[in-house]
Amino acid sequence: MPALIFFLSGLLAGSFLNAAAYRLPQGISMVKPRSHCPRCGRQLRAWENLPLLSWLLQAGRCRGCRAPISLRYPLLEAAAGGIFLLAYKRLGLTPAVIEACVLLAAWLALIACDWEWRQLPDELTLGGLGLALVWSWWSGPAGAAGEAGVARAAAGALVGAAAPAAVAGLYRLWRGREGLGMGDVKLMAMIGAFLGAAGALLTLALAAMAGALLGVAMLAAVFFQRLRRARRRGLAWHQSRARARRSAQAFFQRLPLPFGVLLAGMAMVSWLWGASLWHWYWQGLAGR
Ligand SMILES: [Zn+2]
Repeated sequence: MPALIFFLSGLLAGSFLNAAAYRLPQGISMVKPRSHCPRCGRQLRAWENLPLLSWLLQAGRCRGCRAPISLRYPLLEAAAGGIFLLAYKRLGLTPAVIEACVLLAAWLALIACDWEWRQLPDELTLGGLGLALVWSWWSGPAGAAGEAGVARAAAGALVGAAAPAAVAGLYRLWRGREGLGMGDVKLMAMIGAFLGAAGALLTLALAAMAGALLGVAMLAAVFFQRLRRARRRGLAWHQSRARARRSAQAFFQRLPLPFGVLLAGMAMVSWLWGASLWHWYWQGLAGR
């Protein structure tokens, strides 16, 4: 029964997150105006605000103007429901579960904000940082509480904020432009306060790896697509290769990397599987 309650609260939280991810980056108030269709302005009735269900009932379209409603809405709601359920399964009915639900929900909203608007609103990052610091008295990183919990959360926030500064420097050397902004630094401070210093570093390493893999995969896709096109036009091998390489380089120059999406996503991975990942890593180092 509590599991069902957690899942349903997650769905409800998801529809709140959808509103936050739409309103905060645009500086719109969270309470006024009431939810409406962004195209025709039609105000939503109570039943049209039901998470997941109303999107299904309306077959993904506004009932006023038939404009399609973004798949982001039901996806975010389902994700929040699943994450609340996972948090309950892992932590049970403890003070820690409330903090976990709020912070995981904030990461979901941050993923949506960064993906759509390339923004990480302070309300979510700094708000989450404050909550994690206060909450660490009851449940801090790695099970610590009281003064030890607060100390670990504060250390995690400092390491979390300092590490991206180093990465930003490397990125500037590598790509010749800025990849990480202040929003990423604040997000990492929040992640560090919740997961501790080790969790923050693990998150950063995973995000860097995922970013590199994604970048390489996209580059390879562009390269081979251009190569095939040039070959079809009857160009010689070396000409086709040179052309494909130029295209891939040009693509790489303007490839956008929403790093906040990776950071918040990998923070979730660290929270879920961090302990097993560390274990596996140290075992690997010990050569077993
Ligand atoms: Zn409409």
